Amino acid sequence: MLETFLKSHGEYHDDRYFKDLTTLKMGGYIRHFVMPETAEDLKVIIAYLKSNRIIFKVIGNGSNLVCGESDYNGVVISLKKLNSYEINNDELYVEAGVSAPMLAQLLAKQGLSCLEFASGIPGCIGGLVYMNAGAYRSSMSDIIKEVLVLKDDELIWMNNDELRFSYRHSIFHDHPRWIIVAARLKLERKDPKEIEELMKDRLERRKNTQPLDKPSAGSCFRNPDDGFAWKLIDGIGYRGFAVNDVSVSRKHSNFIVNNGNGTAEDYLAIACQIQDKVKEKYGIRLIMEVEKFNC
Ligand SMILES: Cc1cc2nc3c(=O)[nH]c(=O)nc-3n(C[C@H](O)[C@H](O)[C@H](O)COP(=O)(O)OP(=O)(O)OC[C@H]3O[C@@H](n4cnc5c(N)ncnc54)[C@H](O)[C@@H]3O)c2cc1C
Repeated sequence: MLETFLKSHGEYHDDRYFKDLTTLKMGGYIRHFVMPETAEDLKVIIAYLKSNRIIFKVIGNGSNLVCGESDYNGVVISLKKLNSYEINNDELYVEAGVSAPMLAQLLAKQGLSCLEFASGIPGCIGGLVYMNAGAYRSSMSDIIKEVLVLKDDELIWMNNDELRFSYRHSIFHDHPRWIIVAARLKLERKDPKEIEELMKDRLERRKNTQPLDKPSAGSCFRNPDDGFAWKLIDGIGYRGFAVNDVSVSRKHSNFIVNNGNGTAEDYLAIACQIQDKVKEKYGIRLIMEVEKFNC
């Protein structure tokens, strides 16, 4: 039986909801939720699910997901228990479930420059690699040497240049069944004070410009080639626009926030209206940066 099998390969729960596992705080019941503690357990789980044709979704910190209200009858696999890391001179080995902001702080204290740009990105390393997450003109592709991937039931290392990184994109978007297990990142020695100051400045800037007090999934849309999504959203007058308990943030119009009991349906209704109006007014098709799931 699936439940017994999952229990023998990780921490298992049958009472989890997406709203408790995502930063946007939306989404319905998850029939099976499991947290493997080793890459080997992860490998065995995935092989079992694939051979039994059971659907699954791997998540990190759920900070880029907009999840629907209906029950998810597959298996959600959280990698948060794959959370070890090791520093070797100018290289960091880090597992996929490690929190990026936590790691950024830890490296800064030791005078290791690497994840400064990511100190305000509330995801896990696996999610940041998947998204090629970035800020302040830096992104994961700048610091990745190689990534350990569970691919076709084997664990293999893939080099940076094999991972097809571009703006908020990686090869993993084209292979949803491949799983990022760990990464090797480049480290550079710098003055700890200098790194900490830079991170403090940037976190302050985020606090002043982003609605960090409200549940969100970060920027809703990617920026178009030569501009900013928030300017286009302001241009159509949607700052503050609301559908039920979801609204376009007044602080940053590319953030759509949950004011309490918002649903993915409300979120996507706003996003679709924005896409239509921006297309009509500017001829630009805004592409969603957040991922909708189970809706
Ligand atoms: C307040 C706020 C600010 C943000 N600021 C930024 C920013 O400045 N820059 C930026 O780029 N993003 C930003 N984001 C968005 C988000 O944090 C990033 O996209 C982050 O990379 C998502 O990581 P996660 O662990 O939460 O992934 P999740 O949301 O859990 O998952 C996202 C996708 O990655 C896949 N995935 C996750 N882990 C793995 C894995 N190990 N193997 C294979 N696939 C995996 C999931 O299946 C899913 O498809 C922000 C979000 C918030 C809420």
